[in-house]
Amino acid sequence: MTFEDEIIAKWIRRVIAGGMMMEEKINPYKNAQKQFDQAAALMDIDKNILPRLRKTNFELEVNFPVMTDNGEIKMFTGYRVRHKFMTPTKGGIRYAPSVDLDEIKALAFLMTWKCAVVDLPFSGAKGGITCDPRTLSKGELERMTRRYTYEMRNVFHPDRDVPAPDMGTNAEVMAWIMDTYSIIENNGNTVSSVVTGKPVELYGSQGRAEATGRGVVQIAERAWREFYRGDLKGMKVAVQGFGNVGSVSAKQLELRGCKVVAVSDINGTIHNKRGLGIDDVIAYSLKTKTLQGYPNAEHSGVKDILELPVDILVPAALENQLTPENAPRIKAKMVVEGANAPTTVDAEKILAANGTIVVPDILANAGGVTVSYFEWAQDKQELQWEEQRVYDELSKYMDRAFVRVKNAAKQYNTDLRTGAYVLAIGKVANYVKMRGHFP
Ligand code: GLU
Repeated sequence: MTFEDEIIAKWIRRVIAGGMMMEEKINPYKNAQKQFDQAAALMDIDKNILPRLRKTNFELEVNFPVMTDNGEIKMFTGYRVRHKFMTPTKGGIRYAPSVDLDEIKALAFLMTWKCAVVDLPFSGAKGGITCDPRTLSKGELERMTRRYTYEMRNVFHPDRDVPAPDMGTNAEVMAWIMDTYSIIENNGNTVSSVVTGKPVELYGSQGRAEATGRGVVQIAERAWREFYRGDLKGMKVAVQGFGNVGSVSAKQLELRGCKVVAVSDINGTIHNKRGLGIDDVIAYSLKTKTLQGYPNAEHSGVKDILELPVDILVPAALENQLTPENAPRIKAKMVVEGANAPTTVDAEKILAANGTIVVPDILANAGGVTVSYFEWAQDKQELQWEEQRVYDELSKYMDRAFVRVKNAAKQYNTDLRTGAYVLAIGKVANYVKMRGHFP
């Protein structure tokens, strides 16, 4: 082979490998649309309405500079996608290396159905920046957030599009968004309802930080009682992901008497058959920023957590975790989706055939956006609810949603996910039909 031949051969190998990788990467937007289609097929919806619901309808990509700590300019790509029917549109902002347009479209699309399942007066949106927030200093994170907010100044608005935290962002980031927006759009006068998930001292709501995890566990408890006729006491549980949703879910499960035998983060799984002490794990991971080296547990690979012999598995990390590849080895009787889109359509078929109940994301993790709605409403009225009131209202919303989803699934003789979509699509289709088409 000549030198040129070798280069061409190498190039061909790379193209083939790239093609295969692209095929293997499951497109989360297409996956969500498949879930939508499965439910829509069971329903009798006006054929003029369906195509409007099936696609996100506003997508913005921005490329913007941020000064690093050593004085260099680095370019970042950010997105905001809306699925605009009822407004404001609502949904978090994600800082993660995986962020791309399809991921954000999928998450915005899911937010619409999630809001409809819990009956909030919102439809969906999502935003994000492609970055690894763990490699950025606090100053870099702040400058990146403020510049992204500036780029989104004509999108974010208390009555149009209201962001919130998601993976890689937190209350502090929301405070920077509120501050930046208030400065550039309102002469520095506070606009508190432009973003939710803020610190409680800065117009945030009591209970917002714990809301998603609490909702996950409330729904897990309801579903377990429904399908396995018992309470959660003594059940073995594994929780994938130890961020906001995973750690709160693990703690709430422990408080309900579950034996939380394993949790994981991006570095690996920790496992103790007799049960982990969640307060201790939280303290350790806050101190060291990792579960690596945690004493009193066996350590194994990142994805091992999914296949452990447990009663309940709570994936609370990334999308596409349960795939046709590992689904046959899942032993949990019930999967409760703390994360968005952790189960692919094809994996779900395998789980169903094996008798595993999947409690879908758009029901299970809706507690976060529900308390975001409470926060937005409190800010609009310039008052603050007590913590107990927030939890009582959250509990009511989640319970109502569970009953409605369960009934829809029964009525259509289908699984919980399809039941949830049927319920949500019915509500939004009706709304769109009443408003009609423009022009
Ligand atoms: N990011 C969260 C979710 O996926 C919360 C969104 C919100 O509170 O607006 O549901």
